[in-house]
Amino acid sequence: PLATAIRNVTKEYVLKSETVRALRGVSFDVPEGDYVAIMGPSGSGKSTLLNLLGCLDKPSAGQLLLGQDDISKMSDDQLAEVRCRRIGFVFQSYNLIQQLTVVENIQVPLYYQGRLGSKENKRAVELAEVVGLGDRLDHRPQQLSGGQQQRVAIARSLVNDPYFILADEATGNLDSKTTEEILTLFDRLNSEGRTIIMVTHEDDVSRRAKRIVRLKDGLLKSDTINSEEDRQS
Ligand code: ADP
Ligand code: ADP
Repeated sequence: PLATAIRNVTKEYVLKSETVRALRGVSFDVPEGDYVAIMGPSGSGKSTLLNLLGCLDKPSAGQLLLGQDDISKMSDDQLAEVRCRRIGFVFQSYNLIQQLTVVENIQVPLYYQGRLGSKENKRAVELAEVVGLGDRLDHRPQQLSGGQQQRVAIARSLVNDPYFILADEATGNLDSKTTEEILTLFDRLNSEGRTIIMVTHEDDVSRRAKRIVRLKDGLLKSDTINSEEDRQS
C-alpha cells in the first residue's frame, strides 16, 4: 500500500535559450521495505530525481505515486504537506539546529506541524534510543561526533513515520568506520521494515542496499539486485 511508483517521469528545466531534459522517461517501483541506491555520473539526473521523490518539485510529465497520492497532480501546498509529513530526509551535512538538543532536533518535523506535547517528546526519546543516543538526550550537536550527529538526523527522519528515508550522500562526510556504523543502522532499520532510498556515488555504500538503480543522461541505465554475498561488508 505504501509503494512508490515512478512511471515514465520526465523533468525539464527551461532556461533562457534552451530546455534541459534532466530526466527523460524514467520508470521504476520502490515497494514498501525496499532499500534502493541511486547512482550515476554527475549530471545524470540524481539530484533531480531526489527532488521529485522528496516532493520538492513536480515531474514535467509522467506519474509519481506515493501510496495513493499522485504527486504529479498535487498543488504546491499539498506537496509541501506530503513533504513535511511523509518524507524522512537525511543529508550529507546532517542539517541539525545547533541551539537545540538531540531530543528537540528529533522533534523539528513535528514542530512544523504544530504537534508538540508529552507524547511527541516520548516518541523523540524513543527514537534517540533506537539510534543509540539514549545517553545523549540533552546534548547539542557541537558536543557530538559526526556519526552521532547523523544518528540524530536519522532519528529525526523517522519521527513522522515516513513513506521512506531519503538519504542524500548520508555517509559522505564520515570516515570509513563511522560510515560502517551508519550503514549497519540502515541495515537494521530496513530489516525492521523501513524503506530506504539513498543517493551515493560510492560503490562500497551502494552494494549494501538491496538494489541499485543507475541513471545516465536522464535515463534509467540499469536496475539490479545486490546478492546477499555482495551485501556483506
Ligand atoms: P546529478 O545530481 O546526477 O549530478 P542533476 O539532476 O543535478 O544531476 O542534473 C541533471 C541535469 O539537469 C544536468 O544537465 C543539470 O545541469 C540540469 N539541471 C539540474 N537542476 C537544474 C535546474 N534547477 N535548472 C536547470 N538545469 C538543471
Ligand atoms: P550534486 O551533484 O552535488 O548533487 P548538482 O550540481 O547536481 O549537485 O546540483 C546542486 C543543485 O544545483 C541542485 O539542487 C540543482 O537543482 C541545481 N542545479 C544543478 N545544475 C543546474 C543548472 N544547470 N542550472 C541551475 N541549477 C542547477
